[in-house]
Amino acid sequence: MKDAGYIRCPHCGKDEDAMVHPTAVRINRGGEITLVDSNGTHMQAGTTTHRGVSIENLFVCEQGHQFVMQMVFHKGSVYVEYKDVPDELTKIRETIWRD
Ligand SMILES: [Zn+2]
Repeated sequence: MKDAGYIRCPHCGKDEDAMVHPTAVRINRGGEITLVDSNGTHMQAGTTTHRGVSIENLFVCEQGHQFVMQMVFHKGSVYVEYKDVPDELTKIRETIWRD
């Protein structure tokens, strides 16, 4: 299995020293939303955003940029998209956990 490489900030990611840190993961399963951040695991009801599960991985880079790597699934394919952090999640900036 090949190494998939590092995730880089889409704003300043050409600089190999611009490290990114995970801040949260949000999973939306048909409107059942689970958010894991540095404070723990939170569940809430919401709206469906895709036909299947969507997984949003939130990051902040050491330059302060925030972004989301979103994965959605359809007919055996996994789609990956980099997006801006939704307004309701921009205050999450603390690293989720690191050993
Ligand atoms: Zn950046």
